[in-house]
Order: sequence, then structure tokens, then C-alpha cells
Amino acid sequence: MTARRKLIAGNWKMNGLKADGLDLASDLAGRLKGAGAVAFDMLVCPPFPLLFPVHEAIADSPLALGAQDCHAETSGAHTGDVSPVMLKDAGCRFVILGHSERRADHGETDAEIAAKAVAAHKEGLVAIICVGETEAQRDAGQANAVVSTQLKGSIPKGATAANTVIAYEPVWAIGTGKTATPDDVKAMHAHIRAELDGKVTEPGAVRILYGGSVKPSNAAELMAVDNVDGALVGGASLKADDFWAIGVSCR
Ligand code: PEP
Repeated sequence: MTARRKLIAGNWKMNGLKADGLDLASDLAGRLKGAGAVAFDMLVCPPFPLLFPVHEAIADSPLALGAQDCHAETSGAHTGDVSPVMLKDAGCRFVILGHSERRADHGETDAEIAAKAVAAHKEGLVAIICVGETEAQRDAGQANAVVSTQLKGSIPKGATAANTVIAYEPVWAIGTGKTATPDDVKAMHAHIRAELDGKVTEPGAVRILYGGSVKPSNAAELMAVDNVDGALVGGASLKADDFWAIGVSCR
């Protein structure tokens, strides 16, 4: 079996001002530096205005920096958007794409997400491509089909285990306190792994994260599930103690 190092990614969403972000990121960077060898990679994805200051604060640590979205173009007349080359300039190594909040609030399509992923890859960024079904889709028995369609449409040509991470985030579990059961997570992650065949180079080495109300009390159980290669964490990533506890739950 391919060894995949766990990735614990924090999606700060639209939370925190400069002082909060610097405190949180510096705290985590200090813990990572002090901990020596750990069984996980750790990533924080702050709002755009905090990328430069957070990058400076964590530059001498193993804590990685990512953004929450990007545009598919390098520059131009796209008011309010940020390009992958700008993210790279700000010190990012990762970018989250196709989060369900962007799919729902901004109407992002699989094709747009794939185009963003191509642009991100061109700049050497790792694209974290999010997929997941709604509660109604799960209740209707459509979860696997929905996720298959999202994977087919949003993973671009040129995707590899090195430049692409998949995050399975059931929409009904995000920010709700509800989590998928370990059995459901196991089944969906196995389905995703199988679907990666032919879409990504080295499908067995791609990291598949689970996201949806991950917290210290459920992290160890979820992170021990087959094919769960880390977590994408929203709410619990805003508290250094909680986020760190999720990291150290990885074996
Ligand atoms: C997310 O937004 O990606 C997420 C998983 O949020 P939460 O951990 O708060 O459910």
C-alpha cells in the first residue's frame, strides 16, 4: 500500500483580523517547530488579506500556507478576484477549490473548478479539490453518483498525486456538528479512490481528506479510517488547541 502522509488543513473562511490570524498561525508554527517529528503536515488557509503577514510569521516553520480560492486567469479585468500567481507571490503552496460554500454561494461549476485547478497547477500550487453531496442527495441514494460527477468534472488533465488533494466534505456535515459515520466515510473514500483511477497520475498516492465537523473528540476515529489521509477543518481550525489536537490524533 502507498504510504500517504496525513494533511491537516485549516479553512479559516471569512474569520479573523490581522492580529487574530498572526496569533493563531504563530502559535501553530511554534508548536510544529517544537514538536520535532510529527505524523502529519499542517496547513492554514486564511482570508486573502492575511496571506502576506501570516506567511512572514510562519516562514521559518513547517506550517504551510494556502488560500481559499483563486481565479483561472493570471491577471486582468476581474474585479475582486485573486490569481494563482498572486497566491504564489504571497507564499501559498496550496489553494482550496470548489468548496461547497463557493459552489452554493457563487454558483461555481465543475468546469470552472477544473479551470482554476489548471491555473493553480501551472503556478506550482497544490489544488485541494472539494466534493460532497447534500443531505437530500444522500437521502435519495445519490451520494456516490454526485461525487463521481464532481470528480469527473473538476479534476483537470495533468492532475497528479503531487499537485492534487481531494477533500470529501458532505455538505450536511459542514459547520453543523453532524459528522458522517466512520463506515460511511470509509465507503465514500474507497469510492473516491476507485474513481481517481484514470483521472490522476498515481491514484493510490493521492491524499483524500475528510471534512465536516471534525473536532478533537472525533478526529482520532475519523483519521484511522481506511483511505482517510487527513482532514479539512473549518470551525475547529480557529482555535490553536483544537486544531493541534486534531493533528496529534493522526497515527
Ligand atoms: C469546511 O468548511 O471545510 C468545514 C469542514 O467546516 P467545519 O469543520 O466547521 O464543519
